[in-house]
Amino acid sequence: MKNIILITIDSMRADDIGYSKEESLTPNLDALASEGVVFNNAFSQAPTTKSSFPCIMSSTYPIMLTEFKKGLGMRLSIARVMRKHGYLTAAFNSNPYLSRYYGYDDGFDYFYDSFEFGGKTNNNPLIGKIKIIIKICKSKIPTKIKNLVMPFTYNTPYEDGIELNKKIKNWVSENKDKQFFLWIHYMDVHEPFIPDEKKAGISKKDMIKLNLKLRAAKEDETNLTENELKKIINIRKYDVSHMDEVVGDLIDRLKKMDVFRKSVLIITADHGDEFKEHGGILHTSKLYDELIHIPLIINGLDSLPKKINEVVGSIDIGPTIVDLNNTDKPDEWMGNSLLPLLDGRSTRNFVISEMLLRNKNSVINSIRTKKWKFIYDIAENKYELYDLHKDPKELNNISAEYSRKVEEFKGLIKEHYKNKEEKEKMIRRKKLKQRIKILRKKDD
Ligand SMILES: [Zn+2]
Repeated sequence: MKNIILITIDSMRADDIGYSKEESLTPNLDALASEGVVFNNAFSQAPTTKSSFPCIMSSTYPIMLTEFKKGLGMRLSIARVMRKHGYLTAAFNSNPYLSRYYGYDDGFDYFYDSFEFGGKTNNNPLIGKIKIIIKICKSKIPTKIKNLVMPFTYNTPYEDGIELNKKIKNWVSENKDKQFFLWIHYMDVHEPFIPDEKKAGISKKDMIKLNLKLRAAKEDETNLTENELKKIINIRKYDVSHMDEVVGDLIDRLKKMDVFRKSVLIITADHGDEFKEHGGILHTSKLYDELIHIPLIINGLDSLPKKINEVVGSIDIGPTIVDLNNTDKPDEWMGNSLLPLLDGRSTRNFVISEMLLRNKNSVINSIRTKKWKFIYDIAENKYELYDLHKDPKELNNISAEYSRKVEEFKGLIKEHYKNKEEKEKMIRRKKLKQRIKILRKKDD
């Protein structure tokens, strides 16, 4: 059985990958895609790290159980399942929301999250540089003063992928004779966008100024002119291209250690980013395609290269990983293995995503099929419907003309809530039984 390497790239949009374009920014990812299986219609179940990752790592929907406030909480992680099946498990990441503070170390034999916890795991890693930077950006300090102060404090707060690769290489070289499940999360495409000055042809100071404006525009979009937005989109391209170099560097290292040919690589993203396609900036509480359409590539399977157009979700990653190991999907999980799609068997007709609207304390849901996108604000009973064949940018809401279709999708959402409720009950019952068992053992 091969090793399984899950690579997640924060904030990488499906259209960042170059295989469908003339001028590609991602030759290394394109090469992995051309040898592997590419899912052209993969969607995340939520548009932010905190809400999307419980789904990726435990094949459950974002808004259930602990409502993603405490990371994985009661959910059964892929790492725990793979460790039970005899895999050595390791993870490398530098996103505070995916740190051990939020419980993402669950099931990993080795876990690197780049944060200093002072020996404790209950210190919130956000109380650090990132929090200070965000505070300054959001504060009412005049922009002129911000611009003067920030260049001295403003370095990319996340670890560069090349640095992370060095640590990964050390771990792999020590453990390459064992069978392992490795999860790597890269932050190189996440804002702030501060690529190499020479490559981007813009000074670091100017890039910082633009990033500060971008941050401010997340709160109030009038803070960013069209010209500044264009510049931001342009410098972000260099981060995408750097991300691809990081993946190339990782593949080189794996090949040198003779680990690449013994591994299946699953490459995806947690969500995308918006650049005013629907009026907003970066990742927010929306479910349009720029935020949920993600890349998904599987390399290292024994099958021929393939491009699959069926809709699939992040929720299907866990079940695919256990299927690669020829083992059954745990009862707790809600996704479907992607492997039947390789033989032309279909696994689902639609993908459901969801997001909590903090200010209104309600939830929006979406249904994505190959042709349709339905977005439903349950509390407000508001909905949008887009025909993606005619309107791929989701600009023309035609819900009023297709009331039967709207009712059909509303019915599917209702069913979705029923399924989640049943699954929640089952998980809570199972957890309770486990706790009783542990307490009884203690009594004995
Ligand atoms: Zn993210």
